[in-house]
Amino acid sequence: MVMSESQRLRLLQRHILYLQEASPYYQKLFRAEGFSAEGFQSWDDLSSLPLTSKADLSTYNRDFLAVAEEKIVDVCQTSGTTGQAVTIWQTEADLLRLASNEENEFLTAGIVATDRVLVGAALDRVFMAGLAYFMGLRKIGATAIRAGSGQPGLVAELICQQRPNVLVGVPSLLLLVAQQLRKRGEDPRQAGVEKLICIGEPIRNDDLSLSSLGEALQQSWDAHILGTYASTEMATSFGDCLAGCGGHLQPGLIVVEIVDFDGAPLAAGEAGEVVVTPLGIEGTPLLRYRTGDIARLHSDICECGLQTPRLGPILGRRAQMLKCRGTTLFPAAISSVLQTLAGVQGYYLEVYSEFDLSDRVRVVVGCGDSSLNATTVAEAIAAKTRVKPEVVLVTPEEISAKTIRPELRKPVTFFDYRDSDKE
Ligand SMILES: [Zn+2]
Repeated sequence: MVMSESQRLRLLQRHILYLQEASPYYQKLFRAEGFSAEGFQSWDDLSSLPLTSKADLSTYNRDFLAVAEEKIVDVCQTSGTTGQAVTIWQTEADLLRLASNEENEFLTAGIVATDRVLVGAALDRVFMAGLAYFMGLRKIGATAIRAGSGQPGLVAELICQQRPNVLVGVPSLLLLVAQQLRKRGEDPRQAGVEKLICIGEPIRNDDLSLSSLGEALQQSWDAHILGTYASTEMATSFGDCLAGCGGHLQPGLIVVEIVDFDGAPLAAGEAGEVVVTPLGIEGTPLLRYRTGDIARLHSDICECGLQTPRLGPILGRRAQMLKCRGTTLFPAAISSVLQTLAGVQGYYLEVYSEFDLSDRVRVVVGCGDSSLNATTVAEAIAAKTRVKPEVVLVTPEEISAKTIRPELRKPVTFFDYRDSDKE
């Protein structure tokens, strides 16, 4: 795991040279920008290289394929910006890299060969995550119980039959499974589950304490709650160690930068957009890929003793960032206040353009009785976020009518009516 900066620089140089030799997309881009990989000599040169957006990957998807057809052994898909799926092509070497990434992530979380790990993620439907977890567990020699993510009832059943001591899954699924167990007369806290490895949604606040979602999981399962961050495009994940203070980076596998709205690098520790350059990828290699996610890097030495930087929880999406009279915040910050307020029965947020690059935020809260009033809700939000939005109270039915979409798994609680461009 320990790797010097000059070793990492050599990996990055090799990666950039590979892009120049093998990736039609980057060949064209480097030529257009007059950039040559041989000229890339130091870390300071990194910020002058072009960024790659989700829209680039989606629009020119096929040009990102850097190997001949016969070298592809697996295809993954992820949703693109235009609604069209983006394909990520993987070679045998890419799968081995993915397996070793997951192995390291699970080792960091303290997983050993005697552990029984229920994987609550899909291994099919051209998803990457479930496959990656399975391969990582196999390398450790732990027992994998491939439950999938679709049916909480089945997951609960498998927990009773197979007695896993570690669960991997999205927090909302893990909460539903706890509910299912209680329905069966089983106490999830007595089910022998020691660790929850949470994927897809952050379970920590910006200060690395557990969020209300993380706390709800801890109370439901009486288990150690560990967060992760990953995406199909970067084919890399970052996982919490047992100290639980952000996802450890694997320095040989990825370069992470934090940039501002215009793509300029930010000072260490500041929150900004996560930009990634995954190293050693053959099939679909990327350079300075803008994830659209906002987070900060922690570079102090972790309690666990590892010196690798850690990525804090995702604070929100760049496209959803709200600018309110000089303060920036994300819908998630307002949601977390509303989730802990007694009497709130559903909510959604609307944002409109106001003036001078400022946004107007309207918070619509469902309330079935007279236990809430708009002013106290606005004050509770202001106390946590320093922004006092307009608050409107409506019936819980009006909230469901607006937020529940039968075709979507989760309610839609953010409506963006700003006239600026997104992504
Ligand atoms: Zn640690």
